[in-house]
Amino acid sequence: MNIALSIGHHPRSQGCDTIDGSFTEYSLWATHLPLLRQHLEAYGHTARIVNRTQAGGSTPSFAAAACNAVHADLAIEFHFNAADTPEATGTETLYWRGSALGKIAAEMLQQAMTGILKLRDRGLKTVSSPNDRGYEYFHKTRMPALMLEPAFAATNAGDWARLRDTMPALMAALAATIHRYSETVNN
Ligand SMILES: [Zn+2]
Repeated sequence: MNIALSIGHHPRSQGCDTIDGSFTEYSLWATHLPLLRQHLEAYGHTARIVNRTQAGGSTPSFAAAACNAVHADLAIEFHFNAADTPEATGTETLYWRGSALGKIAAEMLQQAMTGILKLRDRGLKTVSSPNDRGYEYFHKTRMPALMLEPAFAATNAGDWARLRDTMPALMAALAATIHRYSETVNN
């Protein structure tokens, strides 16, 4: 299977900072997604790390275009969450409401993330209307697509510590789960 691993945001506007200021959304995933790619390649998959700038823009539409350009069978965009209060915690996965395969992948990857992070399971979030978070990304991707929000790393110190400390295990678990998804859907 061919998987697009999309780094959220872009180099000139990198999204939220982790609560300790050590990473941005962009820099965190630019740093760690090569490990996920390596695990996926070990399973025999093709994994491309992409960013919206490769498609020539800075909005989520261009992130979709970057995933489409590599003809991915599954696209996953990586972020982390922020809230108004430091108490907000947990893990969530977004998918396009009309995508049956997207829902299967979302269920599997949400379970993989909560299994490693052991933060609150906030469940799956569907995207279907222009007001929904990530609408343009999901609307324009031509393959099953997910957006992962593993933790409130921007505003909850405990969430960030957990994400930071489990990152290698998380990358291994995501790869194993993507591999299992590929066997489930047979591509
Ligand atoms: Zn983000």
